[in-house]
Amino acid sequence: MAIDAKVKQPEWQVPVGPPTELKLLNTLTKTKTTFIPITPRKVTWYCCGPTVYDAGHMGHARNYVATDISRRILRDYFGYDVFFVQNVTDIDDKIIIRARQEYLFSRYAKQHPVMSVDIRSKIAAAFEMYAVKNLPQAPSVGGSAEFAEWAKMVNVAEEAKMNPKFTMHFTALKTANAVLAGGAEAADGASSTELLAAAKDVLILLLDKEEGASVRDPEIFRDLPAYWENHFNEDMRALNVLPPTVTTRVSEYVPQIVKFVEKMAANGYAYEAQGSVYFDTASFEAGGKHVYAKLQPWSRGKADLIDEGEGSLSVKTAADGKKSPFDFALWKASKPGEPAWDSPWGEGRPGWHIECSVMASEVVGSQMDIHSGGIDLAFPHHDNELAQSEAYHECKQWVNYFLHTGHLHIEGLKMSKSLKNFITIREALEKYSARQLRLAFALTQWNNALDFKDGLLSEVRTVESTFSNFFAVVRALVADEATAVADGKHIPQRYGSRERQLYASLTQAQTEFHAALCDNLATPQALQILVGVVAKANVYLAAARAETSVQAVAEVARWVTRMLRVFGFDSREDSVIGWTDDTSPPGATAAADGASTASVEQIAMPFLKVLSTFRDDVRKKAIAKAPYSEILSSSDRVRDEYLLDLGVALDDRDDTQSALIKFVDKAELQRAKAEKDAKEKEKAERKARAKEEEERKLRERMNKGKVDPKTMFTSQTSMFSQFDEDGLPTHDAEGAELPKSRKKKLIKEYELQKKLHTEYLQRQEAN
Ligand SMILES: [Zn+2]
Repeated sequence: MAIDAKVKQPEWQVPVGPPTELKLLNTLTKTKTTFIPITPRKVTWYCCGPTVYDAGHMGHARNYVATDISRRILRDYFGYDVFFVQNVTDIDDKIIIRARQEYLFSRYAKQHPVMSVDIRSKIAAAFEMYAVKNLPQAPSVGGSAEFAEWAKMVNVAEEAKMNPKFTMHFTALKTANAVLAGGAEAADGASSTELLAAAKDVLILLLDKEEGASVRDPEIFRDLPAYWENHFNEDMRALNVLPPTVTTRVSEYVPQIVKFVEKMAANGYAYEAQGSVYFDTASFEAGGKHVYAKLQPWSRGKADLIDEGEGSLSVKTAADGKKSPFDFALWKASKPGEPAWDSPWGEGRPGWHIECSVMASEVVGSQMDIHSGGIDLAFPHHDNELAQSEAYHECKQWVNYFLHTGHLHIEGLKMSKSLKNFITIREALEKYSARQLRLAFALTQWNNALDFKDGLLSEVRTVESTFSNFFAVVRALVADEATAVADGKHIPQRYGSRERQLYASLTQAQTEFHAALCDNLATPQALQILVGVVAKANVYLAAARAETSVQAVAEVARWVTRMLRVFGFDSREDSVIGWTDDTSPPGATAAADGASTASVEQIAMPFLKVLSTFRDDVRKKAIAKAPYSEILSSSDRVRDEYLLDLGVALDDRDDTQSALIKFVDKAELQRAKAEKDAKEKEKAERKARAKEEEERKLRERMNKGKVDPKTMFTSQTSMFSQFDEDGLPTHDAEGAELPKSRKKKLIKEYELQKKLHTEYLQRQEAN
């Protein structure tokens, strides 16, 4: 978004109250401003929720997880009571179109289960309509050689640069074209399912045009958003996003919306035209009491943004009755085929922006601390929301802090279906765990653009294993010490110079961590501080060895665990050290949850099997008087195979201490082992290849070595005529004596062959 430096935002009013240490990047000032809540210790927060008509994608994941982290920090670190309201947009032009098209398509498919002339001509008509409307440069006769020829010649990548929707339309037409061309093969009476599915994208436009207006059953417009709302909630649960304090659904607030619009009209800020009601931006600003477009004054009048905000079913001609192109719809008259509610202006439905103003006002009131959403919502959605609410409440500052999450890119590119880099939340969760995704988001400042790329993911893995390894070591040390105490050992309390230094590092990390969170909730810095203090503790462990103060390292681990929990990385239930096992990636099991209800036998059996197998093995070897190396390899197998599969790592220590038993993430261990195995396999293969090469060279040498050096030249009579007693040539074929330099070269060849031949003879003899 280009920002015109001459266009200034209106002055922001500093909230009344005692200032806090916390600073937040406020879009209303575009600077970090000191956070002052309306009521001390309390935060009211409204967050724009999803428009539910399709699967959530990585952009949603980033926005809602980043918001969740910020919300948790305010609640669990700064100790505020956070009242968090989030809406569900279940009335929207995109929903209406999608619901109607899906309904009409499945009805058509049900009515036309088998192939017929009817279906073919319908698809052909749909093809023509789609092509003329969306890709006028394409031949509009479906199933034609002309189209196929054009599709072959067209430069898709070039076209897509000029028209971002080109690839989508091109794919739809190409698929339908193939169906029409091949349609003759499918005999009348055969099932039409496949053919209709392939032509769906072009067919639904025609069906909607012809029959859309006849769709009146409100159920149709409720089922689709209800399905996707559940889907969204499941995604949020999988991402460990806290549920809102209050959820508001637009379809349940229509009467309140009507009243809200009525009051705005009564205040003189709204007017009716052709059954729709619009916000009057001119009268809103007249008198200087209010300012429109506080967030992005430089975006005022940007027709493309305003149009998009109005929705694709809105009338957008000069005849729409709007007084100014800046005005926007509060209430839309519903045409046939669109869901409708009664209102003083006739049957209609709420506009997009008004819903958030009404629901937030209903739940939170005439003023709130924080309003948040993705940065793409700043204009016109949030600016319109502010205008509506300030017009309704007749107040100057409805929202004190507007927080906007940055964009998400995939490998540097905007995510889009036509670029084929579109990732849904479910797809992402098949590849990465919820913890890895949350780490990726926390490693980027919430308001900055996030590039989801390999570099970030490898950073995620490094940070993840740094914490996991540290927690496993400390948990094992704590358990080890507890066993020693239970055995009656008296553990010395240590506070020497090494411990003093470690505690000082912890205190410093805590101070820096606090400063990072106060500075606009800087989670990337905060995470690095946690990684840093873990590194210090690891240095301590390496130095202290058998004289480790478990109390000191456990203190570091507990603090890091607590701070990670603040960011939404849940802690283990069985101890206060470490995060939960990462159960969402592929191959994970629910062992952590099942453990609490399982019987002793169920829990102990796999471990006892290891013990018993080892005993059998060692016993057999002892009876057979096997060499000690075989007994050692049995004990290695316990560590490297059996226990690994159970998520247990044994770390050998010096001779004075027994091995350290660490319970670690099984999936992580297995990944590490698979990596190690793959490396060893590669090494073995390289070695085998080298050996093969060596053998090939030997065979080549032996072949050459068969020739006796004494006969190697004497057969070459076309080149030489006389030889000495060793078979070395002295005269050329013409009888002239060979020059000295030539003789020298031949002697060299001779000596080489002599060596090869000797080796050959020796090997022959040896064999
Ligand atoms: Zn909203």
